[in-house]
Amino acid sequence: MGKKHGFVEKEVKRLARQVALERIAPNAGERDENSTFPWDEIHILGECGLLGMAIAETYGGIGADRATFTSVVTEIGRACASTALVYVSHNVAQKAVEITGTEAARQKWLPAMLNGRMLGAFAVHEPNSGCDARAITTTARRQGDHYIVNGSKIFITSGGEAGLYIVLVRTEPEKGPQGMSVLLIENNTAGLSFGRPEDKMGLRSTSSREMFFQDCQVPAGNLLGVEGTGMQVLSQSAMDWGIFAAAAISVGIAQAAVDLAVQHAKERAIAGQPIGVHQAVQAHISDMITATEAAAALLMACAANADASPASATSNGFKAKLFASEAAVEVTNKAIQVMGGHGYCRDYTVERLFRDARGLMLHFKTSEWLRQDVAKAALGL
Ligand SMILES: Cc1cc2nc3c(=O)[nH]c(=O)nc-3n(C[C@H](O)[C@H](O)[C@H](O)COP(=O)(O)OP(=O)(O)OC[C@H]3O[C@@H](n4cnc5c(N)ncnc54)[C@H](O)[C@@H]3O)c2cc1C
Repeated sequence: MGKKHGFVEKEVKRLARQVALERIAPNAGERDENSTFPWDEIHILGECGLLGMAIAETYGGIGADRATFTSVVTEIGRACASTALVYVSHNVAQKAVEITGTEAARQKWLPAMLNGRMLGAFAVHEPNSGCDARAITTTARRQGDHYIVNGSKIFITSGGEAGLYIVLVRTEPEKGPQGMSVLLIENNTAGLSFGRPEDKMGLRSTSSREMFFQDCQVPAGNLLGVEGTGMQVLSQSAMDWGIFAAAAISVGIAQAAVDLAVQHAKERAIAGQPIGVHQAVQAHISDMITATEAAAALLMACAANADASPASATSNGFKAKLFASEAAVEVTNKAIQVMGGHGYCRDYTVERLFRDARGLMLHFKTSEWLRQDVAKAALGL
């Protein structure tokens, strides 16, 4: 973003806040209720130039750093966590094309991804791999100018809706993690089909589906990076960028819960007194505010560290995501407590916030894996 950095950053955040508040938040509850995919909201973000904000100016983006990117995701997450998750998955796919695609692939895909005509997603997880991406079994065997892909993926955000997927496959099954690669696969490729959307507890507008590959023919030119570097390709996009954005969604959810609980504690009067006058309620509110601000501050510090020293991005992202995703669950849980029976009812948004926050402790690495990763980095293991 060069010299204009400060000004552009401020303007982008202001724009994101306004768009999120005025155009994304109003129907978030209805989308959750009906599991409606946020296509309108994605197109709005495309019209505003926010879809490609983390992509270099050469390719039509604004080259935002992680700190700016996560600020924008926080605003979207505060308005609607499902829209934010779809946005983040799209950005992971875009970043993968930008960082590891050939120049031809960038020219082919990025313009359509930046304006929202082509939605991106990433597909790593498999029914039998669990949290461990190194255990995937989907294969891609080279045959002339194509790879022939066989296997399946599960829980894929934007599954069936996105037009382009970055898919982790085994190109040399006998080589373990060294035998993995990432392919770009279009949704209309023969041999690719999708399951029905999962009936999830939260993040209900994100269309999580299974993907099935049966002798699916993918052009060899759709390989990202070089064969055998699949884990690195993924790490550069899903971990070095996506995991910060996942943390930002949690921070946004927590901020929304604080706003609602504080407002409720001021307005809800029992025996002539607002419930906020009681010290026990104040303690909940105080805990919510400090946890939310701590998560936001840690995220900003980790994003700034990663921007200054990109080699530290993954380890910084792990800390930010671990803390923010757990903080959001605690904060939304307390918000329900402050709001009593009302907080437990669908008409009062906090129950949705709690359901959405819970999903983010699972996606983009579970808390258990993140704890191990943070400790291993410190121990040099
Ligand atoms: C809302 C949502 C959206 C998602 N979107 C996508 C997507 O777009 N693309 C994609 O590829 N995936 C996606 N996923 C999948 C997600 O990444 C996985 O659900 C997650 O990695 C956990 O895997 P699992 O569900 O198979 O849990 P399991 O692997 O079955 O784990 C169950 C429990 O065991 C623990 N556990 C497992 N192994 C270990 C270990 N070695 N040490 C310690 N604890 C362990 C886990 O932490 C967890 O608590 C999404 C998931 C959710 C919930």
